[in-house]
Amino acid sequence: MTAKMSLTIWTAVVMLTLVVPAQAQADDQGWISLFDGSFNGWKAAEKENAGTFTIKDGVIIAHGPRCHLFYVGPVHYSDFRDFELKVDVMAEPNSNGGIYFHTQYQDRNWPDKGFEVQACNESYRRDPRKTGSLYRMQDVKESAVKDNEWFTMHVIVQGKHVVVNVNDKKVVDWTEPEKANPLSGMSGRMIDSGTFALQGHDPRSTVYYKNVRVKPLFPIVDYHVHLKGGLTLDEIIKFADERGIKVGVAENCGVGFPTTNDQALQPFLDKLAGKPVYKAMQAEGREWVTMFSAETIAKFDYVFTDSMTFTDHRGKRTRLWIPAEVEVGDKQAFMEMLVEKTVGILNNEPIDIYVNPTFLPAVVAAEYDALWTDVRMDRVIEAAVKNGVAIEINARYKLPSEKFLRKAKAAGAKFSFGTNNGGKNDLGDLAYSRLMAKRLGLTAADMFTPKPDGQKPVQRKGLPR
Ligand SMILES: [Zn+2]
Repeated sequence: MTAKMSLTIWTAVVMLTLVVPAQAQADDQGWISLFDGSFNGWKAAEKENAGTFTIKDGVIIAHGPRCHLFYVGPVHYSDFRDFELKVDVMAEPNSNGGIYFHTQYQDRNWPDKGFEVQACNESYRRDPRKTGSLYRMQDVKESAVKDNEWFTMHVIVQGKHVVVNVNDKKVVDWTEPEKANPLSGMSGRMIDSGTFALQGHDPRSTVYYKNVRVKPLFPIVDYHVHLKGGLTLDEIIKFADERGIKVGVAENCGVGFPTTNDQALQPFLDKLAGKPVYKAMQAEGREWVTMFSAETIAKFDYVFTDSMTFTDHRGKRTRLWIPAEVEVGDKQAFMEMLVEKTVGILNNEPIDIYVNPTFLPAVVAAEYDALWTDVRMDRVIEAAVKNGVAIEINARYKLPSEKFLRKAKAAGAKFSFGTNNGGKNDLGDLAYSRLMAKRLGLTAADMFTPKPDGQKPVQRKGLPR
């Protein structure tokens, strides 16, 4: 081979080595890297011991006084509940380390929250809990690996079930008991959600960590994002990439919005064509079913609507978020009308998701719990389930209530996350949605996914005319 050729190959090799993923894009098997070769997204505790962690050639080295290195980066809001985690680990002789999950950053000491998966081979005699141990919950008596050799720690957490594999050998299979085991001496440690931390145990230990990657088993999708307040599509895509989440971008379609017919929808569809986002139609008002063709509606990945716009019992078009248009009058009669309108929408309109669910106008919003009686909740939930319409867990309005969501889950409803952002600042703020999903123990199977072509509601049900 010529000198020039070998130089070209050498350059290519160097370039490949230097390329580190700048984004949290999942690979085709869903794995997302949490470590880009730098401390980006990581925070060391115990300021005076922060030097315990160094990075060399793509490897995190823990060697020094006690210190924990927490993942605090953007991927999945550094909040993981059900997940698979893989880390390549190597320990020198007489070394102790470990990996925490469901933890949270704390300034000093051993992490109070979460569980430790131990890295500790035979040569470290002061601790009988060997590599792969789910520390004090299910201990491993003999390390399956040796000092000075890389191995893969593979942790799988799903619900209350934890599996630890060391080099594909299952060493821990543990389910959290209903009541925390008092013998564990760590009764505060409960399956929850949280981030990861790498352990620097003591000055005599040297443990290496690399290829830190996670596969979230509860994929986060924000199905309700708007290009509002100057927010651009590129900004939305970047935001989603950094977090390893997906988004659906929605156009408001209906009376009072610029988009009132098939033709007016085309620029939006063109703009999103080929982009890594879902195309969503937010159907506005009840007239929307007469304004667009089924063919055009089916070009969207999904359609959602709320029951905030309708013609009220006096024949007046009302938008519930505009106080001047709302006339509640008798509260019970108003609620009966609202429930009836909502059930009508769920029964008749070809939609995928009911968004901003159970929204009440400001004048009665404080009475939400009293006005949304069990009977009223049940009627709406029953209609959603019967019609296969998912219920949004809306972050902006923090709706519906936890009580409503628990009932809906029990009735077999599907759910989606949505921010309904007003601009740039609240983009992807899914705090309420994520909190509710955790409290209800929602799994991927409880969540909405867009229907394939041919099975979309507008193709199944058609448009009411
Ligand atoms: Zn919206």
